[in-house]
Amino acid sequence: MNLSKRDSKHIWHPLTQHKTAAPPIGIVKAKGALFWDEDGKEYIDAIASWYTCMYGHGHPEIIKAVQQQMEQLDFVMFSGFTHKPAVQLSEKLMEILPANQQKIFFNDNGSTAVEAAIKMSLQYHHNKADKRDTLIAFEDGFHGDTFGAMSASGISSYNGPFEDFLLNVKRIPTPQEDTIDEVLEQLEAILSENKCAAFIFEPLVQGAAGMKFHSAKGLDRLIKKCQENDVLCIADEIMTGFGKTGRNFASDFLECKPDIMCLSKALTAGMFPLSITSCTQRIFDGFLSEEPSKGFFHAHTYSAHPLGCAAAIAGIDLLGSLAMQQHKKRIELAHEEFADRLKENSKVKNIRTKGLILAFELTKEMERYGTSRSALYDHFMKQGVCLRPLGNTIYVLPPFVITDDQLQKIYNSIEHTLAKL
Ligand SMILES: *Cc1c(COP(=O)(O)O)cnc(C)c1O
Repeated sequence: MNLSKRDSKHIWHPLTQHKTAAPPIGIVKAKGALFWDEDGKEYIDAIASWYTCMYGHGHPEIIKAVQQQMEQLDFVMFSGFTHKPAVQLSEKLMEILPANQQKIFFNDNGSTAVEAAIKMSLQYHHNKADKRDTLIAFEDGFHGDTFGAMSASGISSYNGPFEDFLLNVKRIPTPQEDTIDEVLEQLEAILSENKCAAFIFEPLVQGAAGMKFHSAKGLDRLIKKCQENDVLCIADEIMTGFGKTGRNFASDFLECKPDIMCLSKALTAGMFPLSITSCTQRIFDGFLSEEPSKGFFHAHTYSAHPLGCAAAIAGIDLLGSLAMQQHKKRIELAHEEFADRLKENSKVKNIRTKGLILAFELTKEMERYGTSRSALYDHFMKQGVCLRPLGNTIYVLPPFVITDDQLQKIYNSIEHTLAKL
């Protein structure tokens, strides 16, 4: 029996309706921007495996770093102990994060980074005897699948059955260039009617919503307004972090820096699950007290796993390397050229690019996980291109190391698919 058949006996897959889903494809090998299935078919990883493996699969520098770390120290608890990979990673992050970020809290995945950020914000106010019970978030945001993160998320296809059990969240639309004043007014109304603890957002690009962009200037004004009211601003950079928007972080496009940042996905270049919740000195200081209970009593067993930290350190070195900077420019240019080509096509709209992200909508409407969306996905996969349309949004977010040929093959496959629609 092949992997795919053996899988169906005991495995329950994420984001899957097993009654109707096609069997999963057994993957046996990956390198650079490619992976191969058990029948030897080759696929281009056009979304860098959910935007994690940004330096390509199996990058030799990442492998070397993890191998060396494995032989030295596999794991030790992170309460009462520390280790070199964690310390070194905190120092590396200080070099690239916005200057107001001063403390690094370790978690093990994106949702738990968000969960820690929300709990930090709630307790920050609680420690000051200022009880605040409301969060502010964008419509259609996505922040993860644990309860706090799910509460902040506004995509109902994920949250439906749990809606009665979520935290208190007020939503505002994302600011577009021509709606900034309107959104600001909505925010002001929420701030005056509620006790708001934090504002959580995906800065500049909402990934799961379908790579939706918004105005940096508008976000700046929202952050400023929140900070004037001591509402902590949480930038969820789990998707946008590590070069995807053209700068290291989407927050680098902002003048008002977030109080808290969440990082994961490309943090470890796809090698290991690890995440970070960083914050300002002021937030950290809000937990200092003679009373133990004012500390942040939140932990995951695998916090700051040395192998994840080693992968992250090697990843940040790659991010800053001349080679990756050149790759980035090359991909940005190719995306722009293709976007121009697409503008001629009447079957698409809202063509947009930012850094390594290229996205557009089909003029044809589609359900997020409906059959026509599945047919689209299957069509790309048949052509050896792994793209995962979000409803009728098609987006490309390739690893930096993708070759020009591979990139053109993705674009051609998109055009070929459009021609068939
Ligand atoms: C993927 C993602 C998350 C959740 O991360 P997981 O590791 O899947 O829990 C949270 N926020 C954003 C913006 C994401 O893209």
